[in-house]
Amino acid sequence: MSVKQLPKWNEMAIGGVIANPGNSLEYKTGDWKVLMPVIDQEKCTRCRICWYVCPDSAILELDKSYITKKGRTYKVTYDVNYDFCKGCGMCAQECPVKAIDMVPVEVA
Ligand code: SF4
Ligand code: SF4
Repeated sequence: MSVKQLPKWNEMAIGGVIANPGNSLEYKTGDWKVLMPVIDQEKCTRCRICWYVCPDSAILELDKSYITKKGRTYKVTYDVNYDFCKGCGMCAQECPVKAIDMVPVEVA
């Protein structure tokens, strides 16, 4: 019995090619979460920790000012991009002022 010869490296089909860089934005990966983070803008101190720890870059740092009920003005607002948030809860876990609640996703 003969042993099947494996192809040499230069005989193999090219794989792992990203022909269209940036196309991951077309694939919404956040639709299977069961819990979703909601940021309380009144509690948020704009420390940016949630933005830093999110493994899916799903925390948005928006160039949008916000004035709290007590009159404090912030120049940025943090929000969640639910198209890519997978509901892991790391942002809520790490928020130092507990401004993020994980709430059940409403199923239509
Ligand atoms: S970690 Fe909490 S306080 Fe800091 S920016 Fe995010 S929501 Fe705001
Ligand atoms: S729940 Fe997880 S994926 Fe969603 S915004 Fe927070 S850290 Fe990112």
